[in-house]
Amino acid sequence: MKGAILVLSGPSGAGKSTIIHHASSKIGEYYFSISTTTRQPRAGEEHGVDYYFVTHSEFEEGIKAGEFLEYATVHGNYYGTSLKPVHKALEEGKLVIFDIDVQGHRLVRAKMGDYVTSAFITPPTLSELKKRLYARSTDDTSIIERRIENAKVEINAVGEFDFVIINDTVELASEQFATIANAARLKQSREELENLILHWKN
Ligand code: ADP
Ligand code: 5GP
Repeated sequence: MKGAILVLSGPSGAGKSTIIHHASSKIGEYYFSISTTTRQPRAGEEHGVDYYFVTHSEFEEGIKAGEFLEYATVHGNYYGTSLKPVHKALEEGKLVIFDIDVQGHRLVRAKMGDYVTSAFITPPTLSELKKRLYARSTDDTSIIERRIENAKVEINAVGEFDFVIINDTVELASEQFATIANAARLKQSREELENLILHWKN
């Protein structure tokens, strides 16, 4: 496989969607991995665009059928990455971007570490995260509070990532993300390196 994987993780409300969207014109062709989830769609979210929204039992059938590269329970719902489209995009040499949680990052790194570059994104402080989650006003207070509690745990995983982006301004964070994405494309898998050595000696 010739492509590369870029994992973007960080607490809900860190700005992952905003930054990917804002940087998209600066990172060339890429494939954004659309996850499958059992959570309810938010206002404005579309099936097949933001997520594949499925029922609990449909998700569990997917697990049994081995459809997921990784999956995890996040904030009480299942979230997972489908294997097939990721493989196809990697075979086509594309940069594959994942917006997944820290558990998902661990699983993807364990399975496909050779291809993975990762970045953790966070607002400058917990209080700024709270402010942004409430300002986004897409979730009920109880859901926001659960996400904030989860964020306090997730921040402890920051050292597991290759890069950290402090999302203070969208402009600067997007520029940093684009730099990381373009570097991720240059990462060579072990297989590619072995081929390079073979050809180099001929
Ligand atoms: P995530 O995808 O990580 O859950 P979002 O991209 O939805 O986060 O961002 C959460 C909220 O914060 C959104 O309302 C977004 O407009 C806002 N936001 C993102 N980045 C910034 C920033 N640098 N400054 C202020 N608000 C921001
Ligand atoms: P949200 O409900 O705010 O869209 O996402 C909640 C959390 O689930 C975020 O941290 C997001 O990165 C994570 N997430 C989204 N898709 C996946 C996935 O396929 N796998 C895993 N492990 N986490 C995901």
